[in-house]
Amino acid sequence: MNPAEPLQTTAPSAELPREQAEQLIHLQKDILEAVALGHDRETILDDICRSAETMLPESVGSIMLYDESRTHLVVRSAPNVPEAAIQQLNGLVPGECSGSCGTAVYQDKPVFVKNTLTDHRWADFHQYAIDFDIGACWSMPIRTEGGEIIGSFALSIFRECEPDAFHKHLLETSAALASIVIRRQQEETLLHAAAYQDTLTGLPNRYLFMQQLDHAIESARRNDTQLALLFIDLDQFKNINDTQGHETGDRILQTVASTMARRVRKMDLLARFGGDEFVILLEDIGDTEEVSHVTAKLIDAFNTPITIRQRDYSLTTSIGISLFPRDAGDRDTLLRRADTAMYEAKKRGRNQCFFYQAELGTRVDQHVAMEAALRQAITQRQFILHYQPIYRADDGGLDSVEALVRWQRPGFGTVAPDDFIWLAEDTGLIKPIGEQILFDACRQCSEWWQSGLPHFQLAVNISARQLDGLFFDQVQQVLARTGFPAGQLEIEVTESTLMDPRGEAVEELLRLRELGIGVAMDDFGTGHSSLAQLKHLPISKLKIDRSFVRDIPEDPSDAIIARTIIAMGNSLGLKVVAEGVESRAQEAFLKAEHCDLLQGYLFDRPMSASELEILLARSAD
Ligand code: C2E
Ligand code: MG
Ligand code: MG
Repeated sequence: MNPAEPLQTTAPSAELPREQAEQLIHLQKDILEAVALGHDRETILDDICRSAETMLPESVGSIMLYDESRTHLVVRSAPNVPEAAIQQLNGLVPGECSGSCGTAVYQDKPVFVKNTLTDHRWADFHQYAIDFDIGACWSMPIRTEGGEIIGSFALSIFRECEPDAFHKHLLETSAALASIVIRRQQEETLLHAAAYQDTLTGLPNRYLFMQQLDHAIESARRNDTQLALLFIDLDQFKNINDTQGHETGDRILQTVASTMARRVRKMDLLARFGGDEFVILLEDIGDTEEVSHVTAKLIDAFNTPITIRQRDYSLTTSIGISLFPRDAGDRDTLLRRADTAMYEAKKRGRNQCFFYQAELGTRVDQHVAMEAALRQAITQRQFILHYQPIYRADDGGLDSVEALVRWQRPGFGTVAPDDFIWLAEDTGLIKPIGEQILFDACRQCSEWWQSGLPHFQLAVNISARQLDGLFFDQVQQVLARTGFPAGQLEIEVTESTLMDPRGEAVEELLRLRELGIGVAMDDFGTGHSSLAQLKHLPISKLKIDRSFVRDIPEDPSDAIIARTIIAMGNSLGLKVVAEGVESRAQEAFLKAEHCDLLQGYLFDRPMSASELEILLARSAD
């Protein structure tokens, strides 16, 4: 558990006999461990109740929480309370004399009723006490981190009795643990939403869309129906963004998203694909007329200017359409064809839609040319590496260096990896390219170390396509040829690589781990792997995606996500790296949250080999 997170309990204190204090510490440890390992939240809450029961004979534990309206309490966990009793408790309204729990929540303090038949706070609950044999009932408020009351933890005892110091500590500890479990659950819900939802517009994100598209294609194939994929790009949006600023740009995108959402049917899936690109999936369409009807409505919707801060912005949009099965039989081709058609719509003067036609090929041709250029790049070794240092948060020392590829394409200058890796992956060329990258990086570092420069961990990015069963041998050969020590190498893979259902990639990574090679999960938080799954994966490091780092500490949900990833990563024994650290405020937040390692422009941008050499030489002095 993150040491930055203080338990709200009074630590089982000196006033208790050692044995009792140890019992409470064990309770805390067991529950926190279950939280960290991602056990089911309901089960953990039940465990809290059961553990308390074992420490107080003839008692039953229960957790009540406010409902959404914050007017009533409902039973959230009470594993040993009879169903009939739970039904009577549900809907309890907090008040002056509302049993132990209702009163504790209302008065914001612990309530210890030692005799339910004589205590005025139980006056309205005599029958309940008799029916279920409750002699005494003690209740402790459950609070959020900020101190807000959210419910109560209670022990009901089948006899009259008063709590001693140990019982009071037990109640406090149980309530504090329940609060942590509930908070984690809320945070994970947020994390989940962030993984599937575009934060700016609230629309499904690219990832969710791709998943849904897969399902839709499968069911269209099964049912012999047609799908239409609409690729929508705002015309010259970049202009507005550059001249009017990002804030205005963001507001426009939000407005556009809600305008479009109103123009499509409930069953159609509208998603933000990235930047100013949106996609719509229309299922079970009859003919192209039907699709044209939808696109006409969309294009028409843009006829009304968007007003932001009393200024009108006239926007238009270009839409490309591809149809399943007519234009393509798989997801990626379908998307590419819609994208090609969209470009054609732009070429023809924008503000229109265009159906994909086999003759188009424009963008495809470009891809063909680029593929040929990539092949040449491999034989002519046009790839170079830049290096970006990663620093330890505690003492600021150099921990590792990430190698980032650049393509020096003749006539095009330096091409960034985001602009060609996808094609290399698509065409399988990533395998020879990846091998060159690994070799160059290892050789370069070996040379530096032979010349006496300081050692560090070398991180190399790997695409999922590279983990084909032969990668392991390739790595071993590279290590042998360059004399680079396995223990200093780390490979970075993305979440999707590890979510591979056949598990072959995971298998190969396991073998690499056995050689002593580190495996970092890159861009964590953007895919859909849950923190709970992490412990089954052969990874040693977690890199928080820079989209979560960008808006901390101001954005509360990003802050929660970053905090959760760090705390959980730490408790699973993984080193946690924050990518994209650009400001002192981000750095301070991450340090306070005990993030182990930091990488970003604040410290260094990716630099050439000779620049890194200078930096290393200087740090050795
Ligand atoms: P990545 O592995 O997540 O690498 C980090 C990216 O974030 C790099 O972009 C880096 O320049 C950028 N970055 C670092 N600090 C900051 C910051 O403070 N602010 C901002 N805004 N950006 C920062 P780059 O070099 O363009 O690489 C992009 C992606 O391309 C990489 O993301 C990685 O997924 C892929 N890539 C790079 N090199 C290779 C490679 O050798 N093989 C493979 N398969 N993929 C590579
Ligand atoms: Mg990386
Ligand atoms: Mg990354």
